[in-house]
Amino acid sequence: MSHKVPVALDAPRHAGLGALLDYASEQALSAGTLLRVPLGRREVAGLVWDDDPAEPGGAPDGVEIKPVTAVLDALPPLPSEWRRLMDFAAAYYQRGVGELALSVLPPELRQLDNTQLLRRMKRARDLAAAWPVPDQPSVPPVLNAEQQTAVAAIAAADKPVLLHGVTGSGKTEVYLHAAAQALEAGRQALILVPEINLTPQLEARFSERFPGRVLVSLHSGLTPAQRLRHWLLAHLGLADLVLGTRLAVLAPLPRLGLIVVDEEHDPSFKQQEGARYSARDLAVWRGRQLKVPVVLGSATPSLETWHNAQQGRYVRVPLAERIGGGAMPRVRVLDMSALPKGEGERVLAPALLAAIQERITRGEQSLLLLNRRGYAPVLHCSACSWKSGCPHCSAWRVFHKVDRTLRCHHCGLAERVPRACPDCGNLDISPIGRGTEKLQEQLAALLPDARIARIDADSTKAVGALEQQLQAVHSGDVDVLVGTQMVAKGHDFRRITLVAAVNPDGALFSSDFRAPERLFALLMQAAGRAGRDAEQAARSEMWVQTWNAQHPLFAALKRHDYEAFAAAQLEERRVACLPPFASLALLRADAKTAAVAKAFLDDASALAEAGDQVTLYRPVPPHMARIADVDRMQMLVESPSRVALQRLLAAWLPQLHALRAQHKGLIRWAVDVDPLAI
Ligand code: ADP
Ligand code: ZN
Ligand code: ZN
Repeated sequence: MSHKVPVALDAPRHAGLGALLDYASEQALSAGTLLRVPLGRREVAGLVWDDDPAEPGGAPDGVEIKPVTAVLDALPPLPSEWRRLMDFAAAYYQRGVGELALSVLPPELRQLDNTQLLRRMKRARDLAAAWPVPDQPSVPPVLNAEQQTAVAAIAAADKPVLLHGVTGSGKTEVYLHAAAQALEAGRQALILVPEINLTPQLEARFSERFPGRVLVSLHSGLTPAQRLRHWLLAHLGLADLVLGTRLAVLAPLPRLGLIVVDEEHDPSFKQQEGARYSARDLAVWRGRQLKVPVVLGSATPSLETWHNAQQGRYVRVPLAERIGGGAMPRVRVLDMSALPKGEGERVLAPALLAAIQERITRGEQSLLLLNRRGYAPVLHCSACSWKSGCPHCSAWRVFHKVDRTLRCHHCGLAERVPRACPDCGNLDISPIGRGTEKLQEQLAALLPDARIARIDADSTKAVGALEQQLQAVHSGDVDVLVGTQMVAKGHDFRRITLVAAVNPDGALFSSDFRAPERLFALLMQAAGRAGRDAEQAARSEMWVQTWNAQHPLFAALKRHDYEAFAAAQLEERRVACLPPFASLALLRADAKTAAVAKAFLDDASALAEAGDQVTLYRPVPPHMARIADVDRMQMLVESPSRVALQRLLAAWLPQLHALRAQHKGLIRWAVDVDPLAI
């Protein structure tokens, strides 16, 4: 007798294809079993899903149910808890459940047969059985009173815990203790971090603390073989600790007992393509589902999280003191407009330059933050006002002096710098503005004896380059470090006593309502890189060069007053009906022409049954209206009620799948629920 099994398929949801399809199998199959099944003329991966009485199978009456091609039952079925997570995430972020579930499995998994799978699993088991013990296990320090309170609160809480700790207040130490409790209880701990490049340092700290415990990382920087191995260790319950970036929140963890989201405010927890999920929000959901503690750690929580804490939905636990009693660096806001004529135009105000010089003399380090890589953001012709635009994007091409190229940071187009203006032949074309490359060059001229290094996406392209450059900073081979936001986060620099934001003003006037929140977090983070050594903390400084010294953001920064800043921002958001006081979704359309994209969105808008709780705005071009010859348009959907918005999306999205066929020239469309960038 053959069994009918519902299967979640690795196929984008398109017209006529429901969430699940039925297949026939000789044997009864448990939900969560990996399969290969025929779909049209193709063969695709699938997972046996749960019978959903509300959705009676995908095959209409009279359609023949096809047999399963292969059953990969060497792999233990993906557990029910994990399937519910996929169900929720797929529904919330408006994707097919199979599309989501299969896209988050390690890619290599689909290529293996049962024999190969068994071999990989045996290797994983052998690895776990002989897990290496580090030479120097670390001894946990005695926690201070605030940290003890925090650890106890995490164990006791029945809600997510917001660990609101200033930089250097010992948050990681709290994670380590909470993880120790989970491990002692026989559970797994999942630690999420924003950036891959922060995992090595943290990995070392965890493995030294838990000698012999199986610790794996999960992030997009792993080779396919590593990714599969680490994932198998997690799924088989062999890994005790899983450290990873956002995708790790979707790993099956049968003994999960703790979830930590470090730097929870970081935008990189939101996936920007495919299923645009928020790993932080899914962590909270998963913790609630399993009734296990979730810790959201940050010195500058996202306003959503802060609001949740104020509303009592999360428990806020403060760590107000830096370890060792070190003071926070003194913040000096330099009003560039008040400087004597001529000085404001210089790259560094004379006072700041002198302060850096002083550090060099004392053998201390300085960090200069400039959030723009390359030499200059644009080249300009003084005769005809030609600018180095990208022919394919609505962006300037950036001048990179090292290899004398003009590069588009959006489509990647790179060309040699022209010798003369392409429009009028004038030889006098010059860079406008300043990126990290130019800052480094100017510093070298201003501080001829200083050892100056630069860390940004360009300087760290080669494998291992970032580690090497960070090592040089740690070992004191660098006097002044120039970098983008890459260096502002997480690093435990010991010798830096001065941090300066060279030109942060752009973010004050951005059209994105989250720009001030991001700038404040970045500057607080950057300030946190100074004076991490308590002995030096007293003379540590954070300088901000600005033409808008009166801006309230800087006033709050001076006092290290996150709460005042958050209160002011939340009030603005409340008045403007913006998150967290409203829920948003963004419908995006990409097409050969803006008119096609707009027509799709207009038709979509007409189909939506908005009711009086949901507002659909008119389609508009986003900040980057054209990328790689593709025109983009977007439409904002807003509601004070998350439920109302979800209800609208659930009814609307299937119609959009059908609508697409009527719009030739539409390249793609997507919905972004809780978008981070608008
Ligand atoms: P954060 O994650 O908040 O930046 P960390 O946990 O990294 O802070 O702590 C900063 C430094 O202080 C680290 O070197 C850490 O080992 C040390 N530290 C943390 N807690 C204690 C403690 N209770 N006693 C002594 N040292 C501590
Ligand atoms: Zn010209
Ligand atoms: Zn381009």
